[in-house]
Amino acid sequence: MRIEKISKSRINKIDFNDISFGNHYSDHMLYCKFKNGKWENPIIKPFGKITVSPISLVFHYGQAIFEGMKAYKDKLENVFLFRPMENFNRMNSSAKRLKMPLISKSIFRDGLKKLINLDKKWIPNNYGQSLYIRPFIIASDGKLSANPSKKYIFMIICTPAKNYYSTPLKVKIEQKYSRSAEGGIGFTKAAGNYASSFYPTNIAQKEGYDQILWTDSSTHSFIEESGTMNVFFYIKDCLITAPANEKILSGITRKSIITLAKEKGLKVKECNLSVSELLYSFRKNLVKEVFGCGTAVVVNHFKQIGYKGKNYFLPKISYDKRISFFLKKRLLDIQHNVVDDPFGWRKKINGNGLT
Ligand SMILES: *Cc1c(COP(=O)(O)O)cnc(C)c1O
Repeated sequence: MRIEKISKSRINKIDFNDISFGNHYSDHMLYCKFKNGKWENPIIKPFGKITVSPISLVFHYGQAIFEGMKAYKDKLENVFLFRPMENFNRMNSSAKRLKMPLISKSIFRDGLKKLINLDKKWIPNNYGQSLYIRPFIIASDGKLSANPSKKYIFMIICTPAKNYYSTPLKVKIEQKYSRSAEGGIGFTKAAGNYASSFYPTNIAQKEGYDQILWTDSSTHSFIEESGTMNVFFYIKDCLITAPANEKILSGITRKSIITLAKEKGLKVKECNLSVSELLYSFRKNLVKEVFGCGTAVVVNHFKQIGYKGKNYFLPKISYDKRISFFLKKRLLDIQHNVVDDPFGWRKKINGNGLT
C-alpha cells in the first residue's frame, strides 16, 4: 500500500475540548479505485479534494453507500476498534443490494489499520470521545444511462468525535413519510436513505421535535427506528426493539445492547411494537424509558414522544438509575478498555484481533 504522508500535520489547529462532529478531518485518507473489474491497490494520502467526472452515477442515480465506526483509546493510549468486521460485512451487504462491487477483507482491514495508525494522534483520549471513521464507496463513472457504474472509489476518512446528541430527545411518531419499505433498501447504509429523511425530519423540527420515530410504510402503526438510530422501549420489565429485517438497519450498537441487556438479566424482546400498544402503556404508566442507539450517539434517551399533536412524557429518572445509562456505560467501558471484554468485541489495532 502506498503511503503519501502530509508534510505538516494540521493537528495543532484542533482544540480537542471544543470539537463538534464533522468539523475537522484527520490528516490522511484512504483512496482506492475499482476499474476493469477489480479493486486496485489502495493509497493513503493527505486528506483533500478528489476529482470525478460529472457523469458519475453517484451524482445522478445515487449509487453510494457508507459505514460508520469508531476508534477508541484507553488510558495507556492503546488503540481499539469495536467489532470492525461487522462493519465490513454490512458494507458488503449494502454493496450487494446496490449492485456495487464487494470490497475485499484485506483492503478494508489493512487500509483501516494503516490509516488509523498513521492518524492515531487524532483519536481523543478522554472517556467517551473517539475518532469517527467513515468508509464509503461511490460510483465514479457512467454514461447517464441508469445502469450500474463500471468504476468506483472506496475511501476512508476520519473525524474526531464527542458523543453527540447528549441531551434527551423529543421525537415525533411519523404518520405520512417513510424511511424504508418492504423489498427496499432500509437495511443498507445507502446514501439515498438519508437524503429522503431530511425533508420529513425538518418538518418535525419545525413542530418542535428533534427526530422522527419512523413507523412501517404501509400502515404507520408499527415502530421501526428513530432518525438514524435503532430504538429500544423499556416497558414494564421488558426491553423491546424492532426485529432486524429488510426495513431495519441492523445496528452493531443495537446488537451489542441486546447482548448487554441479556447479560444483566433483563428480558429482551425483538418484536414489532405498535403505536397503540405504546400509547396504552403510556396511559398505564408502564413506559419507563425509551432510547435510541447507534455508533455516533452510543445511547441517547428520549424525554417526549409526540403522536398526532399530543405529547407523551417519559418519567423523570435520575441519570444513574436509568437502564439506558447502565447499558451506555457498560458499552463505553468495554470500548475504552476500562473493563474486560467477555465478548471479544474490542480489537486492538496492532494486536492480532483484526482478522
Ligand atoms: C447506522 C444506522 C444505525 C446504527 O447502526 P450502528 O451500527 O449501531 O452504528 C441505525 N439506524 C440507521 C438507519 C442507521 O443508518
